[in-house]
Amino acid sequence: MLDGRHALVTGGGRGIGRAVAAVLRRSGAVVTVVGRNQDSLADAVTGGAADAYQVADVTDEAALDAAVKRGIKANGPIDILVANAGHAESSPFLKAETGQFRRMFELNVLGVVHATRAVLGQMTSGGFGRVVAIASTAGLRGYPYVSAYCAAKHAVVGLVRAIALETAGTGVTVNAVCPGYTDTDMVAESIARITGKTGRSSTDALAGMLKANPLGRLITPQEVAATVAFLCSAEASAITGTTIAVAGGEM
Ligand code: NDP
Repeated sequence: MLDGRHALVTGGGRGIGRAVAAVLRRSGAVVTVVGRNQDSLADAVTGGAADAYQVADVTDEAALDAAVKRGIKANGPIDILVANAGHAESSPFLKAETGQFRRMFELNVLGVVHATRAVLGQMTSGGFGRVVAIASTAGLRGYPYVSAYCAAKHAVVGLVRAIALETAGTGVTVNAVCPGYTDTDMVAESIARITGKTGRSSTDALAGMLKANPLGRLITPQEVAATVAFLCSAEASAITGTTIAVAGGEM
């Protein structure tokens, strides 16, 4: 289905990004994963989730651009970008310093901007492209104690909607997938933070996180990845500028 396509997945060494890389590769794409940690990226390649990796921090535009260029030299132009790299920091709004807002925007918003800028021109001139940003349900509604992350993920949704309008009719689609709490390191870290701060058990902390999710369980990375793969398919050519929540009915 994606034979002959070259996909680039930021943050593809682990978590949701790795599951996305694996499903795109199984669908026939050549997959390059990008991240900061060489060991997890190399492991994604040896584990069969990706064909190649490039080390770069998505907040460093020059470094990311150079990594994308090396990836293109090795495996051809990028047809599919999954801008997945991201992270959440938490604290009550009055304790969230400006630095936290800057970090959340630099990683979750500018990381998507840098990656998209590196590939979009080639996609539009080639007449085909798929850009999928991994936003979050935090890009669609508010959650307490993650105001900077929520603001950043709402910005990702706005960004996707705007770029989709600029690229409409070029063969390029631009969308956001918005997962609810998903079973990755990021959630494990949040649970550890809650138990450390409140003394609650991890079962209790997880139950609190899942309260808003009618399905009552964590989303799996594979469930998010399957939605991304659909948006990357030729069949999804009329879907652009939209968000798809993979959140068990929470939205
Ligand atoms: P993980 O913490 O498991 O993985 C994060 C990934 O992002 C890693 O591959 C990491 O790679 C990469 N990354 C982080 N910072 C950078 C950076 N500066 N430059 C390059 N890569 C970076 O998180 P998830 O898989 O859970 O999250 C993936 C995306 O999904 C994020 O955007 C997150 O906000 C979003 N999301 C997650 C949800 C969840 O509940 N898990 C829910 C909703 C959205 P490395 O360490 O190699 O740099």
